[in-house]
Amino acid sequence: MIRFFILLFLATSLFGARVETFRWSNGETYLSFLEKNKLPLGPLYYNLDEDEQQLSEEILSGVHCKSTREKNGDISQVFIPLNDELQIHIYKNNSDYFFETIPIISETKTEAFTLKIEHSPYLDIIRETGSKKLAKIFVSSFQNSLNFKNDLQKGDTLAMVYEQKYRLGKPFSMPTLKAAMIEMKGKRHFVYLNSDERFYNQDGNEVESFLLGTPVHNARISSRFTKRRFHPVLKKYRAHQGVDYAAGRGTPILAAGNGRVVFIGQTRGYGKLIKIQHSDGYLTLYAHQNSFRKGMKNGSVVKKGQVIGYVGSTGLSTGPHLHFGLYKDGRAIDPLRVVQVATKKLAGKERNAFLKLKANYDESINLHVSNATKFTRVSMPDNVCYFFNGEQCVQDKQGSDS
Ligand SMILES: [Zn+2]
Repeated sequence: MIRFFILLFLATSLFGARVETFRWSNGETYLSFLEKNKLPLGPLYYNLDEDEQQLSEEILSGVHCKSTREKNGDISQVFIPLNDELQIHIYKNNSDYFFETIPIISETKTEAFTLKIEHSPYLDIIRETGSKKLAKIFVSSFQNSLNFKNDLQKGDTLAMVYEQKYRLGKPFSMPTLKAAMIEMKGKRHFVYLNSDERFYNQDGNEVESFLLGTPVHNARISSRFTKRRFHPVLKKYRAHQGVDYAAGRGTPILAAGNGRVVFIGQTRGYGKLIKIQHSDGYLTLYAHQNSFRKGMKNGSVVKKGQVIGYVGSTGLSTGPHLHFGLYKDGRAIDPLRVVQVATKKLAGKERNAFLKLKANYDESINLHVSNATKFTRVSMPDNVCYFFNGEQCVQDKQGSDS
């Protein structure tokens, strides 16, 4: 409890100012946010490089942001998360404002629990943990392989091992399922997250439920997905929340899956942009288009493989390419995990490595089942630096200054 207060004090007294938390409102753009708060557009937007300007369009509505103000009401700092690893940091030094992207420091813990089914895995996990996110990741990992409705009986057991990130003592971001087990009619079924970031069952067959088609044919991948990468020359943190496909201007862009157009129009960073909403909370994004296919509009229903537009270089782009983004429940994920034609079957060396990983998880799950491990929310994390300025911990620095 003492630690709790110390941490809270450190966080709220950061830079000797009060920390305000707010959520990024729907429809707010980075530029409109700067204007609203009378922050200078030059140093905080127009003088930034293209990558940084583009990142500022990645802010998702609803994310929790923090700001501090000086006595006269001027904003002295703003922290805006871009994903669960990287955030925009705006700060005032003397009378000048600066922009940087810095890591979000969080602590990851592996947690596990088991429970006996009373109603359904979804409802029972929420009852046990209070977390819809945990219920969601458990159910979706089995949704294509099992039928809970017909085959589950009251008293059957489920178990899950997952990683949870904590920030400022609170669970933060979507948990990552590592292994899950459900017993149905006396038979245990498993799902494991392999080192290739894909899910497999106990036989080494992939169980990914949502498969996307390639959005451009015969294109070269010119840039891959990364949530946080340190650029050694620029000495800056970057993120690339999508995959770039280099292709000639005018190359058709295909809808990666069935869905409905939820955005079509011109944006500054992404140029001519289409967003398609799919089932199960998936959304795809197609940026820098030269032009849209005739007749495409908001609300249009599209089929997988249907042409929606043509490759171009509109917006902040250095050459014709498609920037293809994939979001699950609002969170950017690596499209290449999901873009494929068929599910994968592990063989050879890959299979052997998987079997080792599987054996470890099996041991862990067996232990949790025999101990009937209950869900517990981990208490406050240890000394963690939450505000990192790229080289050192701002929080620690503040602490030692005072
Ligand atoms: Zn890109």
